[in-house]
Amino acid sequence: MLIQNGRIIDPGQKRDEPGSLLIAGGKIAWVGRGKESPPQNDYDVIDAEGLTVCPGFIDLHCHLRQPGFEEKETIASGTRAAARGGFTTICCMPNTEPPLDSKNTVDYVKATAIAEGTIRVLPIGCISRGRKGEELADMGELAAAGVIAFSDDGEPALNSPLMRQALEYSCFCGLPIIDHCEDTALSRGGQMNEGETSAGLGLQGIPNAAEDIIVARDLALAELTGGWVHIAHTTTGGAVELIRRAKKQGVRVTAEATPHHLTLTEKRVKSHGAGAKVNPPLRTERDIKALIKGLNDNTIDIIATDHAPHTEAEKQQPFDLAPFGISGFETAFASLMGLVHRGDISLVSLINKLTAAPAKIIGKSCGGLGTLAVGSTADVTIFDPDLEWTVDTREFASKGRNTPLAGEKLKGKVMMTIYGGKVVYKDESVK
Ligand SMILES: [Zn+2]
Repeated sequence: MLIQNGRIIDPGQKRDEPGSLLIAGGKIAWVGRGKESPPQNDYDVIDAEGLTVCPGFIDLHCHLRQPGFEEKETIASGTRAAARGGFTTICCMPNTEPPLDSKNTVDYVKATAIAEGTIRVLPIGCISRGRKGEELADMGELAAAGVIAFSDDGEPALNSPLMRQALEYSCFCGLPIIDHCEDTALSRGGQMNEGETSAGLGLQGIPNAAEDIIVARDLALAELTGGWVHIAHTTTGGAVELIRRAKKQGVRVTAEATPHHLTLTEKRVKSHGAGAKVNPPLRTERDIKALIKGLNDNTIDIIATDHAPHTEAEKQQPFDLAPFGISGFETAFASLMGLVHRGDISLVSLINKLTAAPAKIIGKSCGGLGTLAVGSTADVTIFDPDLEWTVDTREFASKGRNTPLAGEKLKGKVMMTIYGGKVVYKDESVK
């Protein structure tokens, strides 16, 4: 397969130029500059004129819900949704039922992904047994089973000695400990960001401090142990500043922000109700500015979706009863293109945060991804940076139709996703 005449962006190799890409045997076989063409010419040709060609996106944070909550999502539906969003590798959180705290459950997810999935699924193992926050899961067994990180996501690892032990183990195994930073005593009963909007709506708020407190603790524990902490879904200006300072001091920390926290404010709760109910909550314009500054100075290493689908029935309950979480795969890239069109972040930097940067984080357990270097696996995403479209949730492959972007007009669209040399998603308008 020859992809011709596109703009090739491969941040890991500092490549951004017009060119062509040859895929053979599931690998990148050749990359040419400008109008250069490969030796022979009997390939299927994809004309990428006006389109951008980049490594397949990698998502470090999503919820596939299987096993246990197949009514919300399955590995089959979730990976199809991810492919529609331009992702070729996704890392799933272990808050399933049973949770991924043993080799058996990890093996089950891996085998199901291979049998029924559209793209690569890399499981994340639990920090604590049963996600109860009491005793460490068998992290050695989980690492041997191939998890790429550890997390109790959905819940914070509030037990400080336990978090300390997990970070100590991370020094030994070289895998990150991903923490969902929330002081749950402070956030309890909260429905959305605490501020004027929550007061106006009469809803109990979740203050920024609920996040900042645990980020500060995790950074202190990472410093104490030398372990690697990865801060999930950073949302507050305070957390960004704490991470920035810790990085300067040499603490081993990486961090992510989500597309929704980078682009939407708490005001969405007014217009989209439970479709905008997410944890951590959508914050304010000020927090968004701080997050974008953090992206640009690499305080925030990567963008991760936190795709968290629920059934329509669950989300249609009264606001206070509806679960937290939104469906993100199919809108993530297009919503982030809004930041590029506004000049908040460069296109190359955005692609980096979705490809080479997350590839580096999972590199120890799953190397060689997030690049178009010759010889690497042919995971490729092709997008139109300027195509406008309207989010119609009826078209989602995800079972979760809960999104604060329902009905939104976005500019930028994934046109084709290639996984291991095979086309796994193609927009209808692509011939
Ligand atoms: Zn979380």
